[in-house]
Amino acid sequence: MSKSYVVIAEVRDGKLRQVTLEALQSIGLAKEHEDTVAAVVLGHQISNIAEQLSQYVSGQIHVVDHKDLEFYNAEIHFSVIKEVLDTLSPHAVFLGHTASGRDLAPMIAAYLNAGQLSDVISIEKTESEVRYTRPLYAGKAFEQKIFTEGPQVITIRPNNIAVANISDAQAEIITVEYSPPLSLRTIVRDVIRKTSGKVDLTEAKIVVSGGRGVKSMDGFKPLQELADVLNGAVGASRAACDAGYCDYAMQIGQTGKVVTPEIYIACGISGAIQHLAGMSQSRIIIAINKDPEAPIFKLADYGIVGDLFVVVPLLTEEFKKA
Ligand code: FAD
Repeated sequence: MSKSYVVIAEVRDGKLRQVTLEALQSIGLAKEHEDTVAAVVLGHQISNIAEQLSQYVSGQIHVVDHKDLEFYNAEIHFSVIKEVLDTLSPHAVFLGHTASGRDLAPMIAAYLNAGQLSDVISIEKTESEVRYTRPLYAGKAFEQKIFTEGPQVITIRPNNIAVANISDAQAEIITVEYSPPLSLRTIVRDVIRKTSGKVDLTEAKIVVSGGRGVKSMDGFKPLQELADVLNGAVGASRAACDAGYCDYAMQIGQTGKVVTPEIYIACGISGAIQHLAGMSQSRIIIAINKDPEAPIFKLADYGIVGDLFVVVPLLTEEFKKA
């Protein structure tokens, strides 16, 4: 019997987040041929999102378009999602391992009486089962999990699953009516986002990060220049945030954001385990540190022993020429 797989799409600033496509790709890896895939997308003025999604989903796209859904609100979004899920009876629900995905997943799992698996980085299907891999102990170990029964709720770490080219899939778009009960009217009027630049840190392909070695707020300027040339984002260690050199929105690590870019450039960062928890899965790690014994060099694919205030501007100049 075919099973129903559902992805909860994520929209930010009127754009579909890349992690939604990665979640759809994950479903492709986990499902059987005859299983169906549906997407649920909530927001305001999102007809273009539904069109975009229809290129990746071969089943149904449930669109709930209302001004109260413009900004994420756990109570309101969950109340809508559970109504849509009632019509779909899903075998599995996939979300991004993002702030809202992490918020919604346990609520959905409790509602469906499902098992939940968070922060999945890869999926492998054998003849008899689907194995989900996720990191443990701040990325020092990995575990593989299988579901033996019941519905499943899974969050996917951004930037880990490659998205295949657009297929010729054309989904059926279903408009879901929503009239919010007075008790659930939204009180969010605006979202003021603290970001380090134009590129979202968790979705950036290149991240240039600064640590205590950056020494001041001004010390981040050469890092921002390098990130701009590479179309990347700027991150930071907690020590740099604690020292007031940058905003906590930029913190990467165990108590900050988790990033998995193609290239991570660590500048003046020693490589404490709590920092590695947020970036050790990056494809290529480049460390710039004046201490040749800095632990970050044990993890780095490329290491530059030197003063970051000399090395970073040199890199920026070289990349400008490229
Ligand atoms: P340091 O360890 O002080 O390293 C600075 C580095 O800069 C040194 O290696 C030095 O050689 C180099 N340097 C100095 N000047 C230059 C220069 N001019 N050029 C090149 N190199 C230079 N940390 C995080 O980052 N993220 C977290 O989420 C996080 N969570 C934590 C949670 C808990 C519960 C705890 C206890 C700690 C946490 N920490 C976290 C803190 C973590 O333990 C480290 O203290 C922190 O990561 C160190 O930051 P750093 O590497 O920037 O600073």
